Amino acid sequence: MSLKGKTAVVTGSNSGIGLGVARELARAGADVVLNSFTDRDEDHALAAGIATEFGVEARYIRADMSDGADCRALIEKAGACDILVNNAGIQHVAPVDEFPVDKWNLILAINLSSAFHTAAAALPGMRAKGWGRVINIASAHGLTASPFKSAYIAAKHGVVGLSKTIALETAGQGITCNAICPGYVLTPLVEAQIPDQMKVHGMDRETVIREVMLLRQPSRQFATTEQIGGTCVFLSSPAADQITGTTISVDGGWTAL
Ligand code: NAD
Repeated sequence: MSLKGKTAVVTGSNSGIGLGVARELARAGADVVLNSFTDRDEDHALAAGIATEFGVEARYIRADMSDGADCRALIEKAGACDILVNNAGIQHVAPVDEFPVDKWNLILAINLSSAFHTAAAALPGMRAKGWGRVINIASAHGLTASPFKSAYIAAKHGVVGLSKTIALETAGQGITCNAICPGYVLTPLVEAQIPDQMKVHGMDRETVIREVMLLRQPSRQFATTEQIGGTCVFLSSPAADQITGTTISVDGGWTAL
């Protein structure tokens, strides 16, 4: 399947799942726009590397997804946005009654509101072309809950609801909107949680991964960034023209339990 001629904008794509998604869309022939809130040489080098490896156009555009104006400016600067992947996300762990308000607001802004702003900016262009894909990276935590992640879980449930609403507002216009709900993927975000978990549970790294992190993931395997990217490629393909307003879990069976 070829995405040649399409431009994909992937938010939060200088590492982890976002980078994997950008790489898989480029492998399928799409031109890609990478993004994060930093503006370092290595950010631009990532885009240059993708351009060379896959023979597509690839650019890096700095924009802070916690800022609504920056979100909209990202789409404007991209020039075209046929495939929008809202992926930027952060996490903080604390009980509700101790959750720092600034962290709550930041998580809601980056993990949820950014998807509203980028979609609002991208939809007119998609409507004009009669084709578009909005893919929001939610989480198994967009469908389930666990303690101490209130802001993340509220935001991810919100992303699922926003995706359904966009799907209904664009149905029949050649545009689809869906949410992907990954289980655990071993990215820098997850790597950063391992030392704390080792301390809390008094376990070594491998035991924490197997007995704590992957406990809810029946496959007992991490999903990969390539698999999330491949799901984005599928959702951008003609086979997925009638798939809209739904969630696709890539979670090794987590939400089937
Ligand atoms: P990651 O930390 O590797 O990547 C997060 C990305 O978001 C980075 O590129 C970072 O630069 C970017 N980002 C952070 N703040 C930003 C801001 N203000 N503006 C722009 N970009 C910003 O983490 P990841 O695991 O790859 O997570 C990517 C997405 O996948 C997140 O939305 C996360 O919630 C979701 N997710 C991850 C997992 C997992 O197990 N890794 C599971 C389910 C869902």
